[in-house]
Amino acid sequence: MARPNSSRAGQRSGRRSENRSEKRAGHPTAPRTESRELRYDSQSIEEKWAARWQQDESLYRAEASDSKLQKYYVLEMLPYPSGVLHMGHVRNYAIGDALARHMWMRGYNVLHPMGWDAFGLPAENAALQNNVPPRQWTLNNIAQMKAQMKRLGFAYDWSKEVTTCLPEYYRWNQWFFLKLYERGLAYRKKSKVNWCPECATVLANEQVVGGCCWRHETIKVEQRDLEQWFLRITKYSDELLQDLDRLEGWPEKVRVMQRNWIGRSEGALVDFKVVGAAGRAGDKISVFTTRIDTIFGATSVQLAPEHPLVNDLVGNNPELRARVDELLAEQRQAREIGDVGAISKRGVFTERYAINPFNEEKLPIWVANYIVMDYGTGAIMSVPAHDERDFEFANKYGLEARVVVLPRREIEPPDSGKAETHVLPFTGTDSLLINSGQFSGLACGEAMKKMTAFAEEGDFGKAAVTYRLKDWGISRQRYWGTPIPILYCKKCGIVPVPEKDLPVLLPENVVVTLEGGSPLARLPEFVNVKCPRCNGAARRETDTMDTFVDSSWYFYRYTNPRLQTAPVERKTIDYWFPIDQYIGGVEHAILHLIYSRFWTKMMRDLGLIKIAEPVERLFSQGMVIKGGAKMSKSLGNVVSPDEMVARFGADSARMYSLFASPPDRDLDWNDAGVEGVSRFLGRAYRFVARHPQKPDSARSRGGTLAPPARKLERKLHQTIKRVSDEFQGRWHFNTSVAAIMELVNECHAAEEEIPSGGIPAALLKNLQRTLALLLAPFAPYLAHELWEMMGESSNLLREKWPQYDRTLAREEEIEIAIQVNGKIRSRLFVAADSPEEVVRERALADEKVRASLDGKQVVKAIVVPNKLVNIVVR
Ligand SMILES: [Zn+2]
Ligand SMILES: [Zn+2]
Repeated sequence: MARPNSSRAGQRSGRRSENRSEKRAGHPTAPRTESRELRYDSQSIEEKWAARWQQDESLYRAEASDSKLQKYYVLEMLPYPSGVLHMGHVRNYAIGDALARHMWMRGYNVLHPMGWDAFGLPAENAALQNNVPPRQWTLNNIAQMKAQMKRLGFAYDWSKEVTTCLPEYYRWNQWFFLKLYERGLAYRKKSKVNWCPECATVLANEQVVGGCCWRHETIKVEQRDLEQWFLRITKYSDELLQDLDRLEGWPEKVRVMQRNWIGRSEGALVDFKVVGAAGRAGDKISVFTTRIDTIFGATSVQLAPEHPLVNDLVGNNPELRARVDELLAEQRQAREIGDVGAISKRGVFTERYAINPFNEEKLPIWVANYIVMDYGTGAIMSVPAHDERDFEFANKYGLEARVVVLPRREIEPPDSGKAETHVLPFTGTDSLLINSGQFSGLACGEAMKKMTAFAEEGDFGKAAVTYRLKDWGISRQRYWGTPIPILYCKKCGIVPVPEKDLPVLLPENVVVTLEGGSPLARLPEFVNVKCPRCNGAARRETDTMDTFVDSSWYFYRYTNPRLQTAPVERKTIDYWFPIDQYIGGVEHAILHLIYSRFWTKMMRDLGLIKIAEPVERLFSQGMVIKGGAKMSKSLGNVVSPDEMVARFGADSARMYSLFASPPDRDLDWNDAGVEGVSRFLGRAYRFVARHPQKPDSARSRGGTLAPPARKLERKLHQTIKRVSDEFQGRWHFNTSVAAIMELVNECHAAEEEIPSGGIPAALLKNLQRTLALLLAPFAPYLAHELWEMMGESSNLLREKWPQYDRTLAREEEIEIAIQVNGKIRSRLFVAADSPEEVVRERALADEKVRASLDGKQVVKAIVVPNKLVNIVVR
């Protein structure tokens, strides 16, 4: 092919410097057309391919579940449709997209879907601010973001798209709710709830971060009493905990966070009789303790300010009542700040006593601000000698700290007095009991068992397990969510909406305001219904569901999103699940990922699916920051993907987001870095453009290669190995991209050899083809363009991922002679161009050499690179 640049002169100047080859446009001997032809014009390349890809709806479509191919389900967390993608999204999707494309090229049937977590508060806020109905606002945003995703070239199977605010999806939320209700797993109760005054709604415990709303980082969450719907996630506490051990493909960090959130403690319940209350209902205080072995050291019983007994105990003492109210206020405040554990501990003596059933001792009953109702029973026995918090409290109020447990080594004869010198509190359990009646002398573990059994025999206690995990409050007093399918009839009480009447449609003619309560409550045509049981007047539930319900099972729906008869189809689920790789931010480590696991177990128990865990491997990518700070409008450091695409192209923006940092670390965005990646892509483009190979040119490697060609061939195979290994291993795509960059550099460095045939055509062709294949997961637009430039017409996405040859990838080895005082004593094989220190060290360690040294002193060892080592001894 006669191109102006195929002359040797053109090759030379192009090879030495890319910049110079660009500048050559102005050189009198260089035709002006050349630079235009060789310029990497990302915009026109990308627009051309984007248009083609959008025409072909089958391009990224997964094969049906009866496919003979092995499946691979790669999933990125679905976004909230705020209207614009940010760089965090781009990074998340660039990781998933690289993986999806790689797996297609490895011959898998890949499912790579995308959808929209489309219910939620911002749509209502937008409606308030701009007077746009939430539905319209949301659907507009989805259209915009979808267009952005397409322009970025993400390979999604849009035939699987799920939009959670559409009735075809949320009707199944309602269906699940009815199933849960039938099984007693959805229930209603009055409870203290977290209330965000800004959202004007209830928040789940998981949505309270540091005492503030997860959406409003500066708004303190209040406690309110409301009738709420709960899902009984605690039925699965143990299974959720135990199955964490099976999730070996999850980051340990996430598993630890979930384990702590579930917070299982084993211990015992022990009843303390209240003195002077005999015969009345509230005559005993049940405490939960994980250290029943220390019960002889209890010196008080303490209640949470909200404990139901407190009212009785305080009786008609207004002074006492006022002080209890103060403690309650302090606790609420501490809760609002986020950490009751860090509260300055205060309490008040109720002037009443309870009996320790183990030794019949009368213990004072206190109310304390650091005891909370939602852990254990809201009552503890205080053992100052053996508990940090009890010790701190007792010190403040002068309560006795009685030692009943000591480390084995410190057990001394009773009269030695040494026991008294121990530093308190002592909380170790590799210890023995003292001063504990019949249990003295037992080891702690043994004592716990015997004392629990003793309590059970005496009918004043039993073994018990408690969890930090609470049932999931799903009621929201908001409009833009799934209506809860429940009716209230004066005669029949709570009546579930019959399944045949689903979906309960969310009305669209709603005026959204921030006045308290759900806007739905102000719509009589929604609220007033006939009771399906008695035909009398009934009232519809006006709360909507927490949007985390939507995201708890959307990934199942992707496999058959238009199914009319059921939420999921068993056979497609059996084929596609578990998800092979899930990718998303670590901020979802608790909320979304615990709810999804719960939903999966519940679906299994309904007989809908057979798996117990939805996700095989989980990857949490780092954040995208700029100038060391999280991108935010207020800091003015937001980088827009649209701008990056317009300036550098989608390939550069995507590839940079993979190149700038390993995917699991934070990425500090730098526009100059994107420009650098764009320059690299230009170099790759020009290497193919300047040496066009035809598809039918020779492909066999031929005979022995000359050294420069052999070097290039070796680099090629090493690069394939490095890039392939990262996909299989730790996903450090930054090193994959760096490896491809090195390869392109070496290609440019060897350009001089091409016209003379020093790089055989077959090798050159192999280099160019492989370059396109290796770039395909990271820079799909350019990769497709290169593929076409080489005259290839096959679909690059289904082209086979390149294989490396271990032998060809191996560094060439060179034989080196080792002389001792000028006489050859041994020979050594080392990789060509090994560093001198390595060669010297290996020469000195050689057995034959060491034998010949025998007691003599090495004066020096001179390395002649790639030839010999001369050791001078004396
Ligand atoms: Zn809020
Ligand atoms: Zn009724």
